[in-house]
This record gives sequence, structure tokens and C-alpha cells, in this order.
Amino acid sequence: MHGSQGATALVGMPGFVVGAHELIDGEWWLYVETTADVVGCAECGTRAIGHGRSRTAVRDLAISGRPTVLVWAKRRWRCPDGDCAVTTWSERCEQIAPRAALTERARKRLAERVNVEERSIASAAAEFGVGWHTANAAVAEHTDPVIEDPARFDGVTAIGVDEKRFLNATPTARTKFTTQVVDLDRHRVLDVIEGRSRAVLGDWLAARGKEWCAQIRLATLDPAAGYRAALEEHLPNAVRAVDHFHAIKLANKAIDDARRRVQQATLGHRGHKGDPLYRARRVLLCGDERLTEERFEWMLGLLETGDPDGEVRAAWVAKELLRDVYAATSPDHARRRLIVFFHFAADAEVVEVTRLARTIDRWREEILAYHSTRGASNGRVENVHMLTEKIRRNSHGFTNHTNYRRRILGRLGVSWTTVPTRRIRGRQPRSIA
Ligand SMILES: [Zn+2]
Repeated sequence: MHGSQGATALVGMPGFVVGAHELIDGEWWLYVETTADVVGCAECGTRAIGHGRSRTAVRDLAISGRPTVLVWAKRRWRCPDGDCAVTTWSERCEQIAPRAALTERARKRLAERVNVEERSIASAAAEFGVGWHTANAAVAEHTDPVIEDPARFDGVTAIGVDEKRFLNATPTARTKFTTQVVDLDRHRVLDVIEGRSRAVLGDWLAARGKEWCAQIRLATLDPAAGYRAALEEHLPNAVRAVDHFHAIKLANKAIDDARRRVQQATLGHRGHKGDPLYRARRVLLCGDERLTEERFEWMLGLLETGDPDGEVRAAWVAKELLRDVYAATSPDHARRRLIVFFHFAADAEVVEVTRLARTIDRWREEILAYHSTRGASNGRVENVHMLTEKIRRNSHGFTNHTNYRRRILGRLGVSWTTVPTRRIRGRQPRSIA
């Protein structure tokens, strides 16, 4: 252990010097103190007298990937003036809050790791050598003021409303859902609301205020009656549309349901690796134009053996006809194609296709409205959905809605003006090596 100028420069906190450093269990321990030796009493201005030191340990930015601990020999001072109300006090430092586990800059950096670099709380916590809760608190401190800023909702004119699975069912609890509201113009998540009912969406819209609601011209929605009712009630000027993404989700579900039923009926068990229908499960959901001739033939071959009555195939055709509705070039064109879809569904007499057609019929106006809007959803909004799902999966399932919402909004709800933190410690200087 020896003092070093290099280490002092490395710590880069004005007014501090490093007296010594050592490597303990793979972590750097830096012993620091302030250089101030003339201090006045804050109350009376009398020159203070040293009154010993107390040690405080706080975690700071990592050095060369190693967690780093600053051990600060904090001075205590005493006012010598017997008439003064102040007796003793400890020195303070902006970077190190009293009783903090992390320096302020480490807290900020940790939040960036999670929000901007998309690391998990656990991995960021490990980098700084702190526990999960300390890391989570640092992220909350830097994220919450930004995501709670009402200015985030300014200028929104088009929203998308989606149901998102939040927690899978367990033996003791039902599946939990959230409602995600997206800004369709800026492709940002506006909020993640607990639940998926008319009431939760209605309350959220009411909380935005009448003026805000009146500015919304377009609302795309997950086809759910509760959402429709809430949007109808609160958004007087909005066209409601079911976009491509949600309609195809319904059609894909019809294919999956038909495939599972036929699988059971023909083979008497759930899909296994070698079963033709199981092998076809993904290709069936692909858009026709994305299939090569070989792949299409391969799919037909699997259906020939696995789907003797052509029921899964009917569901597949229904999906393609619904996609044609969305690919139509004008509202009239779309209306004609929708009729073709209904005719096909009526003739098919496949239970899943019939159910799909009934649902589509209930949402006929919203589906056709897609064509009178400007193509409602688009790839970038679908991208938001995929990123949301990725966050949920990578975090091994959130159990706490507040943490889940913060993570989604911290990453997909705000644009962090990414001024990269200056790399104070890019290399390991010779003095510390
Ligand atoms: Zn004093």
C-alpha cells in the first residue's frame, strides 16, 4: 500500500486525495481523504479545530471492470467558541451522501447501464458490488422523475392500446395482464397500466384531462370490448382502428387452435417433435409471400399427412384472406376483400375459422377504419411490442408492477439525451497496476 498521484487523478473527485489502495477479493479499496485543513464554523465563522475522523465506505465507479470501494476518512470538526450553538460536525461531500452505499456518480452510471445500455439490474448490481435492492433504488432515483414528468404526454395525437401479459399464472395466482399505451407518432411507450379492463384504461384517459383526450385523432386497439368502450367514452375525436398486427394475431390464434385440436383428434396426444402438424407450427404463421416455393411445398406435404380434413389448411387460408384485407389499396377494395373472407369462412365449417369470422365481424368497422387512417400501425410500433417482450423475458419475469413499468418506460418511454459519461478511468494507470 502506498499513496499515489495516479490513483488520485483516477478517482477524479476535486478536493480528494488517495492515500493508499489495495486489492481485496478482486475489488479495489481506495483510502481517500479531503485536502481541506482550514475550515470555519458555519454558525459563527470561527476557525474550526480537528475533532478526529470517522471512516465511511462507499462504492464508486468500477476501475478496469473491478468493483471499487472508497474508504473515506471523514473529518470531524469542532467549534472552539463556547458560546456557539454548534459543537461538532462531520465534513460533507456532494458525491457521497450520508449513509449512501454508492457515490452519486456511481448511482447515475448504474441507472444508465440499465436504461440506456439495457443491462439487467442484477448485472449492473454485480458490476458495482452492491445488492439488487440498492441497484434498483439507484435506477428508481434517476428514472422516476423523468418518467413521471407530465410533459412526456405533450403533443400526442395518436395512441395504440395493447394488452400485454405481465405475469404467467402460478398455482396460486391467475395470469396478470397490463395495458400498454403507445405514442404512434414517436413510437414511445406512454404508460404501462395494471390490468386490462375498460375501467383501468378509462381512468388513465380521464387522468390525462379532457383537453388532452380531445387532441387524439386516432386510437388503434387490441380488439377487446373493454378497450373499445373506454376509447369511445373518453376520446370524442378519435377514429378507432384495429391494425394489421392485432388482426393477424387473432388469425394466428385460430391456426394454432385448429392445429392443436386436429393434432389431438388424429394422433391422440400433444404435438411432439416428429409430428407433421407440430413441425409445421411456425411455417403456418409466415406470410405467404415470405415462403419460397420449396418451403410452401414442404408445408403442404406436412398438412397432407397431419391434417386429413383440411381444417388447419382452412385456418391458414382464412389468415391469408385477412391479410389481403389489410393489403387492399382503398377502403372499397378492403370492403370487397372482407366479403371474400366472410364467404370463405362460412363455407369452411371449421370451428376455429367460424369463431374468427365472428370476432372479425364484431370489429368490422375498426378493421376497415385502418384504411381511412394513414395505415395506423407500422413496423416501428411492432418493434416496440417486440422490445417490450424482450425486456420481460430478459428480466426473468417481473413480480412487481412498479419495477416492470419503470423498466419499460425507462427504456422505451423516454429518449435519454445520451451524453456519454466521460471515461474517467479508461485505462489502469501504472501506479495502481
Ligand atoms: Zn461556531
